[in-house]
Amino acid sequence: MTLGTPGTVPVAVETPRHTSISGLLDYTSPQPLAPGTLVRVPLGKRDVPGLVWEADPGATAPPAALREVAMALSALPPLGADWRALVEFAAAYYQRGVGELALAVLPPELRKLDDTQLARRLKRLAALKPAEAGTPPPLPALSEEQAAALAALAAVPTGHPPPPVLLHGVTGSGKTEVYLRAAADALARGHQALVLVPEINLTPQLESRFAERFPGRLLVSLHSGLTPAQRLRHWLQAHLGQADLVLGTRLAVFASMPRLGLIVVDEEHDPSFKQQEGARYSARDLAVWRAHRAGMPVLLGSATPSLESWQRVQEGRYLRLGMAQRIGGGAMPRVRLVDMNLLPKPGAGAPERVLAPPLLEAIEKRIAAGEQSLLLLNRRGYAPVLHCGACAWKSGCPHCSAWRVFHKLDRTLKCHHCGFSERVPRACPECGNLDIAPIGRGTEKLQEQLATLLPQARVARLDADTTRAAGSLQQQLAEVHAGEVDVLVGTQMLAKGHDFRRVTLVAAVNADGALFSSDFRAPERLFALLMQAAGRAGRDAEQAARSEMWVQTWHPTHPLYAALRKHDYDSFAAAQLEERRAAGLPPFAHLALLRADARTAEAATGFLQEAATLIDATTAGVTVYPPVPPFVAKLADVERMQMLLESPSRKALQRTLAAWLPQLNGLRSRHKGLLRWAVDIDPLAI
Ligand SMILES: [Zn+2]
Ligand SMILES: [Zn+2]
Repeated sequence: MTLGTPGTVPVAVETPRHTSISGLLDYTSPQPLAPGTLVRVPLGKRDVPGLVWEADPGATAPPAALREVAMALSALPPLGADWRALVEFAAAYYQRGVGELALAVLPPELRKLDDTQLARRLKRLAALKPAEAGTPPPLPALSEEQAAALAALAAVPTGHPPPPVLLHGVTGSGKTEVYLRAAADALARGHQALVLVPEINLTPQLESRFAERFPGRLLVSLHSGLTPAQRLRHWLQAHLGQADLVLGTRLAVFASMPRLGLIVVDEEHDPSFKQQEGARYSARDLAVWRAHRAGMPVLLGSATPSLESWQRVQEGRYLRLGMAQRIGGGAMPRVRLVDMNLLPKPGAGAPERVLAPPLLEAIEKRIAAGEQSLLLLNRRGYAPVLHCGACAWKSGCPHCSAWRVFHKLDRTLKCHHCGFSERVPRACPECGNLDIAPIGRGTEKLQEQLATLLPQARVARLDADTTRAAGSLQQQLAEVHAGEVDVLVGTQMLAKGHDFRRVTLVAAVNADGALFSSDFRAPERLFALLMQAAGRAGRDAEQAARSEMWVQTWHPTHPLYAALRKHDYDSFAAAQLEERRAAGLPPFAHLALLRADARTAEAATGFLQEAATLIDATTAGVTVYPPVPPFVAKLADVERMQMLLESPSRKALQRTLAAWLPQLNGLRSRHKGLLRWAVDIDPLAI
């Protein structure tokens, strides 16, 4: 640790990286302040929060007249060196200011307290009775594969940074039990454990399993669904070392945990681990970095690992532990492809084909047997667009380059990008034609059509529209579990994690869209979604034998479906990686995306084009592609453009970005109408 000049304290404040390269500003303090101490400092005419940091050895001598630290939160133990190292790494890697990132990941309530208030809080927390002690339940017998995975995990050498472990287990193979045992082991050694899950909806289920397993241990959650006061309390309990287990979504990767000894990332392939605004960090990647630096194990679990992690296994950098069998020996559901090309075309005037007759028949059989079916359609609302046959008007959003979706229940046209919503017009706004009709199908329409096709069935729907109200998701899931629903229609929300015991049939109604997407990750995501959805069927061993996953497709010979039929992740991954290697795409190349938002597309393009001239691509070892619009080019009246940078070398890309980005603010004034720019390192969607 480098100490500053006596009396001089470097403080990380919320300035963007491009204002002060290091993100640190110097202040004076009458008393010594340890790095990691939370302070308030004057900046311009305001007092702002800041964190005392290590002196930057490369910094130039501070100007003579430094201002004094206004207030220090001395009651709070300083944030530790490991935590600061994580923040510093993430800030440099994702090209943000240190203070900007550090303060963004701390609970906002923290900055509202003064030292006396904080001291009172900490005293109250210290006096709290910890979690109720009790007898842990008898441990379930381990499957052979679970036992083997745990033995391999125990044999991973410690001391040196152990290799990250990829727990590649099919749905139902009992990955959670492995997490529980690994956590028990960490706790027994006096450590804290951090468990990351992709979705806040999945935390209650996992939380109750951990709470039941570890009576007497304090478990806290960290996610965006907490009240500010809860978030502060949980964060403090982790930071003070009172909480043994922290369970949370991506933000929790930044939890301050002084005794941290294990990180688990469940569903490591899930795109939700990537933050999509501000510092666009990947919590999965940061978890791996954090564990590596501290020399602790990190466990990445998935049935369909990300191709990044899979490639690292191939290179011998990650250790793969496989679990190919479902607990209780149940088989994976049989995958059946319905070739939509072979169905007889409905005659003129006949209703459109919703479900292929054999699929409909299969669902009817399940209903008769008292079993449940899940129908997956990745589009909410009634219909994606309204259309006038007379003048060709379509329900576009006036603020975005997107259609507004028809929601029949509340008779609205809603833009799913900017939220703009209006009553459905009685007649075509262009020509007055009364006969405007929906095109295509969303979950709402599918639910309606099923009510006609299956009049005897109880059909329910689960998507972002039906689960908006607090508690409604839990309520609806309870109805499904209680057997009050025969057929459940929904978006990909259905596929994630929920443990449905009566489901023996899962069907993807219209999955083809992603096969020919311009997004190179679309097939990977589709395969993961379908495998995950298939895993919802036949969770009980006795049902497994007759469980089925149906896929309606116009492209039944596509290799993705061939791999799905065999539940063959390995061959799917190998084929995808071969394509990525040939095309020079991740994980074989490293990407960064510079985005520009402006009043006009010309201003956004002009800014990006001028920015590109500042890179000498031949010496940088980086390819700079011409600016292109993203999928939704105009969003909420803002025109968006993006420019891709690609390099086979992560170092070369990082070096180029670090030298380049600080110059970009200087360009701003020359591009009238430019609103903002941002950089996305390792973007998920391009
Ligand atoms: Zn019209
Ligand atoms: Zn819109």
